[in-house]
Amino acid sequence: MAMRRSALGEMESALIPKGLKRLGIGLLDAVLPPHCLSCEDPVMTQGTLCASCFRQVHTITDPLCVCCGVPFRHPQQALAGLCPNCAARRPAYDMARAALRYDDGARRLILPFKHADRQELAGPLALQMARAGKALLARCDIIVPVPLHWLRLWSRRYNQAALLGAKLARGAGKPFVPDLLVRARATPPLGDRGAAERAALLAGAFRVRPRLVRRVAGQRVLLIDDVMTSGATVEACALVLRAAGAAAVDVLAAARVPDPRLVERS
Ligand SMILES: [Zn+2]
Ligand SMILES: [Zn+2]
Repeated sequence: MAMRRSALGEMESALIPKGLKRLGIGLLDAVLPPHCLSCEDPVMTQGTLCASCFRQVHTITDPLCVCCGVPFRHPQQALAGLCPNCAARRPAYDMARAALRYDDGARRLILPFKHADRQELAGPLALQMARAGKALLARCDIIVPVPLHWLRLWSRRYNQAALLGAKLARGAGKPFVPDLLVRARATPPLGDRGAAERAALLAGAFRVRPRLVRRVAGQRVLLIDDVMTSGATVEACALVLRAAGAAAVDVLAAARVPDPRLVERS
């Protein structure tokens, strides 16, 4: 009797994964119950957040600056269209959008994605970015990630912005050029430095890879980053892309600091 039951168990384990695979469910999902992307709580579907973590992640919605995408606190601010920063000086990029506010909830997703090899977070983050950047994805010609310096790439093993860019490019059916930009030198954390100091630290940090210059001329580039803080990094990238002949540069980030004056370290 015991033998029969174990034989039946074997048959089941041989058959069930096959059935689940047909439904697109991997072996791991069949063996381990799916858990929240951010904590260890069980969820119904792999690649989702539990109710409690979901409540702590805040998407960026209107009203926001038409140029840099910073969310406005009051609907009246939207009447101006531009935030005070963009009104004072337009950035080198045309339009920037981000999916999430970079607060504690978003940090719990993005920091493990950046630093703890949680590469499976790229899919769910890219999905949110595709929502926030629908118009930018539709109008771009090529998709390019903000590059890492090779030393950092070597220690992290992957460029998180490139993982996001690859997913977005596949989803939108647009060409992805992961090595178009080069980070010519490593930069210290920009942290709490002022705008002028950040710009000075980033001057000459990026360049277009000489053999790929032809890919930029006349193109509308969509630049991908994980977190937009002051915007100094994407500004430096947009400047070199424009100098290389890009027709336009838009920016899409997974998250952004709601108020650029509140500086975050990552
Ligand atoms: Zn959770
Ligand atoms: Zn703005």
